[in-house]
Amino acid sequence: MTENNDIAEIRRAVQALCAEFPGEYWREKDRDRAYPGEFVDALTKAGFLAALIPEEFGGSGLKLDAAAVIMEEIQSSGCNGASAHAQMYIMNTLLRYGSSEQKAQYLPGIADGSLRLQAFGVSEPTSGTDTLSLRTVAVRDGDHYVINGQKIWTSRAEHSDLMLLLARTTPRDQAASKTEGLSIFLVDMRAALGSGLTIKPIRTMMNHSTTEVFFDDLRIPASSLIGEEGKGFRYILSGMNAERILIAAECVGDAKWFIDKATAYAKDRSVFARPIGQNQGVQFPIARCYAQMRAAELMVHHAAQVYDQGGNPGAEANMAKLLASEASWAAADMCVQTFGGFGFAEEYDVERKFREARLYTVAPISTNLILSYLAEHVLGLPRSY
Ligand SMILES: Cc1cc2nc3c(=O)[nH]c(=O)nc-3n(C[C@H](O)[C@H](O)[C@H](O)COP(=O)(O)OP(=O)(O)OC[C@H]3O[C@@H](n4cnc5c(N)ncnc54)[C@H](O)[C@@H]3O)c2cc1C
Repeated sequence: MTENNDIAEIRRAVQALCAEFPGEYWREKDRDRAYPGEFVDALTKAGFLAALIPEEFGGSGLKLDAAAVIMEEIQSSGCNGASAHAQMYIMNTLLRYGSSEQKAQYLPGIADGSLRLQAFGVSEPTSGTDTLSLRTVAVRDGDHYVINGQKIWTSRAEHSDLMLLLARTTPRDQAASKTEGLSIFLVDMRAALGSGLTIKPIRTMMNHSTTEVFFDDLRIPASSLIGEEGKGFRYILSGMNAERILIAAECVGDAKWFIDKATAYAKDRSVFARPIGQNQGVQFPIARCYAQMRAAELMVHHAAQVYDQGGNPGAEANMAKLLASEASWAAADMCVQTFGGFGFAEEYDVERKFREARLYTVAPISTNLILSYLAEHVLGLPRSY
């Protein structure tokens, strides 16, 4: 892939920043399940998290394809962009559907780091992947909406000032169509905490700062509504394409990290008086992962370019996410196998990255649901659910 100088410069700048956050930093955070605040602050200060914000609001006005490169480089440097990636992909909903007042109110603060937009409240414990069945409701009451319900897996909620929330505003049986009746809100969590919003952390197999969020008669100003009431599902789907593309770019970065580590180790580790990488049984899995990663990388950039041209690349974004998450997971498994016993030792970071990479064939959308989308919407097969 030939890249222009600007993209090459972004890669170099992200690598330089990430070099300040080596494996020991991430190991310590992982051990303590602590939020990598210093890393997120450094990304913010360098302007990377404001990449998609237009210049008039203090950002650098870059395209999604450039944002994807930033996320990829973070992962391929051994860091973990999950601590901050939502700011990139939530942004698109605000940019595409927010009013000019909302943009003027929030974007400059997000760009300069005084406001963090890191929480995305869609998933719920009972509805799971079936988003249209979600139960959190927002009921209009004069100049306010009153929110009741519960979200799960709302990552970074404890480290965010704002949350993009999807809630039902029209009961399902009264909505004009199956996909109408849901709305998106930009909730100011600073005002909400202790006044109807409660956050409970969930400890997971990797350090991900994820939580459960409870809404109990939370009153938010009606001006928090993004776009038109009842159209939230459509807006969220468009935002989810950006999310899938950026997560896919992270997976490509992870795959590159695993492939680089495995290659270097296979050259260096000598058993039976020769480098293990001289054995084709060790070489071939690394080579296969490389080919898989490159194919995924092409699809990620293709999807990002379609998005940047103003399209809604549902098929491309889903395929990018599918291919990249499978490539990173295959590379993670290959890397552990190449390292043998040392793959399990904390000090090599392989086991930590292995745990972190496992997430992406499940979230933000699982492989089955992507296959189902392709089967139905691209191939025209009968709808299965
Ligand atoms: C660490 C972590 C962080 C997350 N962060 C966020 C976040 O910030 N915000 C947010 O909103 N959500 C977040 N999520 C939620 C994530 O998006 C969901 O976990 C994911 O979409 C899967 O949904 P589910 O867990 O409800 O699985 P379920 O819907 O219960 O599905 C379970 C399994 O069944 C399969 N399945 C279900 N229905 C079908 C079907 N019809 N056909 C075939 N297979 C099917 C699925 O593929 C899956 O493998 C996070 C999750 C995790 C684990």
